[in-house]
Amino acid sequence: MPACGICKRIRAIFFRSLRVSPFILLNHDETLSSVFTLAHEAGHSAHTMLANDHQPLATADYTIFVAEIASTFNEHVLLDYLVKHAETKEQKISLLESAINGILSTFYRQTLFATYEYRANELVQKGIPITADALSKIMIELYDHYYGLDIRKEHYKPYVWAYIPHFFHTPFYVYQYATSYSASLKIYQNVRLNKPNAMKDFLGLLKSGGNDYPVNQASEAGADLTEKETFMAVINRLNDLIDELEKTLESR
Ligand SMILES: [Zn+2]
Repeated sequence: MPACGICKRIRAIFFRSLRVSPFILLNHDETLSSVFTLAHEAGHSAHTMLANDHQPLATADYTIFVAEIASTFNEHVLLDYLVKHAETKEQKISLLESAINGILSTFYRQTLFATYEYRANELVQKGIPITADALSKIMIELYDHYYGLDIRKEHYKPYVWAYIPHFFHTPFYVYQYATSYSASLKIYQNVRLNKPNAMKDFLGLLKSGGNDYPVNQASEAGADLTEKETFMAVINRLNDLIDELEKTLESR
C-alpha cells in the first residue's frame, strides 16, 4: 500500500499558502510497484488541487475515506492500460497476479482486520479483560472464518494483531481501505460502462473536498456504500481478473 495520508494534505495547504507549485515526493525505483505508487499519489494530488480550487479553506481538506477513492481509481485505470498493452504473456500474467494479490490484501485482509478491531472493542464494552490470549483467540477465529486457515499451526501468526501498526496508532482506519477500494471500483465500473455523467460525478467528488459526510460524497459520485452492489464491484473485478489469468495461462 503506497504511503500517503494526512501529513501530505497539510503540506499541500501549507505550500499553497506559499504559492509553491504542487509536487509529489517519491522514492521511485523503476519497479512496477513504483509506477503504481506514482499513479496512486497522482490521484491524491489531483484530488488536493481540485478540492483547493473549488472549496474554501474550511472545507478543502478531505477525509481518508474519500482520499483513497481518488488514489485507487488511478490504480484501476493503470492496471487495465498495462494489461491491454502487455508485450508478452509473462508480463500479462505478472500484472494479473499482482492485481489479484492486491485485492486479497486490500479488500479481504483489511476487512478481517476491521472485524478484529470491532470485536476487540466489544471486549471492552462487555468488561472482559484484554489479554494477549483474548486477542489471539479473535484472530484465530477470523482466519478460520475468512480463509479456512488454522493459524495456530504457525508459531507467531496468532499474534498478528501485535504487528499491525494501524491498530495502535490509527484506530478504526483499516476498514477504510476496503470501503474506498469498493467505491473507486464501482465508480470506475460506471465510467467504463459509459453511465451518464459517471466521469463528471467522479470529478465532482474530487472537487467537493470535505464539504459533506463521506458516505454522501461517495454516493453522489456513483458509489452508494449502503448498497451491496458497491461491494460486489470488487468481487466481480476479482472474478474477471481470475478468468483473465486462467485464459492467459491456457493461451500459447
Ligand atoms: Zn493513498
